[in-house]
Amino acid sequence: MNNKLYGNLIFELSHEGRKGYSLPENTFGNYELPLCARRKTDAELPQCDELTVVRHYTNHSENNFGVNNGFYPLGSCTMKYNPIVNEETAAMPGFAALHPLQPAETCQGALEAYYNMQKALSDITGLSEFTLNPFAGAHGELTGLMIIRAYHQHNEDHKRTKVLVPDSAHGTNPASAAVCGLEVVEVKSTPDGLVDVDDLKTHLDDTIAAMMMTNPNTLGLFESDIPEIARLVHECGALMYYDGANLNPMLGACRPGDMGFDVMHINLHKTFSTPHGGGGPGSGPVGVGKGLEQFLPRPRVVKDGSEYKMDTEYAGISVGEFLGNFATMLRAYTYILSLGKENLPMVGPLATLNANYIKESLKDAYELPITGVCKHEFVFNGLKDKSTGVTTMDVAKRLLDYGYHAPTIYFPLLFHEAMMIEPTENESIDTLDCFIDVMHRIAREAAETPDIVKTAPHNTPIGRVDDVLAAKHPILTYKQMISDTQDNG
Ligand SMILES: *Cc1c(COP(=O)(O)O)cnc(C)c1O
Repeated sequence: MNNKLYGNLIFELSHEGRKGYSLPENTFGNYELPLCARRKTDAELPQCDELTVVRHYTNHSENNFGVNNGFYPLGSCTMKYNPIVNEETAAMPGFAALHPLQPAETCQGALEAYYNMQKALSDITGLSEFTLNPFAGAHGELTGLMIIRAYHQHNEDHKRTKVLVPDSAHGTNPASAAVCGLEVVEVKSTPDGLVDVDDLKTHLDDTIAAMMMTNPNTLGLFESDIPEIARLVHECGALMYYDGANLNPMLGACRPGDMGFDVMHINLHKTFSTPHGGGGPGSGPVGVGKGLEQFLPRPRVVKDGSEYKMDTEYAGISVGEFLGNFATMLRAYTYILSLGKENLPMVGPLATLNANYIKESLKDAYELPITGVCKHEFVFNGLKDKSTGVTTMDVAKRLLDYGYHAPTIYFPLLFHEAMMIEPTENESIDTLDCFIDVMHRIAREAAETPDIVKTAPHNTPIGRVDDVLAAKHPILTYKQMISDTQDNG
């Protein structure tokens, strides 16, 4: 792209006196703002004509990459296709134009959708009741742990201040426990990548509030000892928490409620499509088993005869003023309804099949530290041939040249060159075959012309950035950029 014409920042295109607006004649008169509300100096705004503004942002948007542009095999964060019908539902005026304080009798349809979604999640997970209020997965974890703490306090069991978290857990698990004021105790993994039950036993006593588990875990493995773990944890009086951020592979296979979990969250924005990334929007509903319903945060939507109502009676926990990210809930609910009871159970098997297809097709060229059948995602530990000096970072950058989003890299932390791949159930075999072909091509390049891979990307608007410099000396404002350019001559 020609930077002179399009510029990197709209400020670079600014010319004194140019404008991109024309306002109608002022027929209202002039009303001065009170002094306290006025700026001391004029805001520094770019001055551009409309067409320049349109081109600037359109060109930038074309540099963006999303599921609608191409394959996005990002492990652990499920970048699933968001069907257009989801957007149509969320944009319906009856939903989009609602006011949060509107009386319940004027928005029965919206409350019905919300109520049905609470129930649908109970059916899907085998838990008794759900709140859709939390705004993200991590927010759901915090909510779930607050519920667990409220439960122990209700039982006057005040000693229980520790949460067991496996070393393979997503980083948000220990973080949420800490934010909730609970102490994190790490449980080790076995060499096969599963929770080490013997290590778990050494921690179990009357100070444990809960055990947090992710299943499939961050290695994409099904935690096969859950019944035994649940028995041990319950025996010591603690509760089982299920991190269901990625429930994809479980759909149609099994339900956390049937496995002995008491509290869980689901990321609607991973498991049930809905666009996400860049910090939002998300939704992390929390479900609880029998006996814990009273600790769910308010407000909740309840059904009274044929009428839907907001239950706002304070229960001790509140995680948001209103009903959470309503539009995200609508997208996920649309996704669930459009698949229906017959097709939803196909999601897990297809996600699992796609992941295993890529894994088996590439294990000749990439190191597979944990073999066997995975669930919806798996981890390579870099290229099999370590003599080329080509790292996981290099492979990820080279993938950009071929028009793919990179997989999740250097996570989980259990392997030095981790590369976590999740295709999702939506991809056709043609897409998977093309990706496999490109991954093989990169492995050949690494062996034959490694410099091409080590200096990638070559075809993107911005080449390889200096991560260390960017981390140590970030340039975060336009002014700073100008002064830095001047400093550097
Ligand atoms: C994504 C993820 C989370 C956190 O979800 P956010 O919506 O990003 O807060 C928690 N646990 C697991 C396993 C995840 O993959």
